[in-house]
Amino acid sequence: ALGYHKVVKENRNLYNIVQDLKGNIRVYCRIRPPLNTSVQNIIDFIGSDGSLVVIDPLKPQKDGKKLFQFNRVFGPTSTQDEVFRDTQPLIRSVMDGYNVCIFAYGQTGSGKTHTMSGPPCGSANEFGICYLAINDLFELSAQRKDIIKYEIKVQMVEIYNEQVRDLLTEDSASSKYPFTFRHSAFFKLLLLLIWLKKTSSLTMDTLEIRSCVSDDSLVLPDATLRKVKSTIDVINLMKLGEVNRALGSTAINIRSSRSHSVLTVHVQGEDVTGGNILRSCLHLVDLAGSERVDKSEVSGDGLKEAQYINKSLSCLGDVITSLAQKNSHIPYRNSKLTLLLQNSLGGNAKTLMFAHVSPEGDSFGETMGTLKFAQRVSTVELGAARANKESTEVLELKAQIESLKRALAYKE
Ligand code: ADP
Ligand code: MG
Repeated sequence: ALGYHKVVKENRNLYNIVQDLKGNIRVYCRIRPPLNTSVQNIIDFIGSDGSLVVIDPLKPQKDGKKLFQFNRVFGPTSTQDEVFRDTQPLIRSVMDGYNVCIFAYGQTGSGKTHTMSGPPCGSANEFGICYLAINDLFELSAQRKDIIKYEIKVQMVEIYNEQVRDLLTEDSASSKYPFTFRHSAFFKLLLLLIWLKKTSSLTMDTLEIRSCVSDDSLVLPDATLRKVKSTIDVINLMKLGEVNRALGSTAINIRSSRSHSVLTVHVQGEDVTGGNILRSCLHLVDLAGSERVDKSEVSGDGLKEAQYINKSLSCLGDVITSLAQKNSHIPYRNSKLTLLLQNSLGGNAKTLMFAHVSPEGDSFGETMGTLKFAQRVSTVELGAARANKESTEVLELKAQIESLKRALAYKE
């Protein structure tokens, strides 16, 4: 009996954490380890309560100190696992029918991709949230398999210059150069033209965001939707996404810092007895770099890019502020990014923003920009979150009973 009470108490604590997450946008700040230790470090203090003090390198006295308050601050020594542990309850609520959006904000080089995907070719203990999240959803689905049958599908797109591009299409990766030696010169030329047209149209193809007929969610009907069943599926899928992202650009690093990548996990759960269905989605977003681009330094395409990035990031800020002020009009339509994330930002959803900062003195201006943006977002309280379907509460309770029973059996 003692064991039972312990489990109930633990579950209640977990429940409180989930409750705490409801209806709020949360902001976590993560500080990258210094890459250049010869430059002054501007991080003055990190509190366990989510406070952060940064210091202006030009004003090292007391008045150069600026205090910020977030839900949590992860210091430069924090591990991927620590970050994931604090994100897990939110991710798991997707399985109970909540829409969740997690996005990484910050200047280029501040660690957004490290948090979301992990380092390129990283080992298993360096995997980022995208991988760990989907893997965790598999685990939860296995635990609940006698009560709920889950199906997990994934989409991955890139938003670049206000155009949405599919990153999971097999076509572009497999459209090989179609030459053989038997063809005449004329035929080769013809083939070359067709091939060029095909590959260029593949990289130019932009997807339409449409509203779904059956519910009011927004969908990308033409983006590849892949069913995933195992960790290996997820790894392969992410590799394909990387390949396709690189295909569309000459300089991958420049491109990836100027486009938003959005990984969407669609979850469908069906009650094995009642046939109730719950649907929800998890958006995992690696945003474009938030650095301000000096207009005098760029022209032409670069300027267009910079304007689009500024536009979509400020639109994201505007949407969240309007939600907080409970305005009747929320300007979702002002950018592709906010339009796509619409059903994961607002009353029915939970949002988590990672504000990424670099600790070096020469990034002070950008760091302040990021922290101010994040502070504006974090003081915000969104409307109470509610599950997509009433019946999901019943499903959730059934699942809890089942896990309690199992824990009890285990303890005895
Ligand atoms: P961004 O995506 O914001 O441009 P990256 O994630 O690519 O930044 O990070 C820039 C560099 O710093 C990479 O080499 C990355 O591996 C490293 N890095 C970022 N965050 C961390 C961290 N928390 N721990 C160790 N290395 C990190
Ligand atoms: Mg990146």
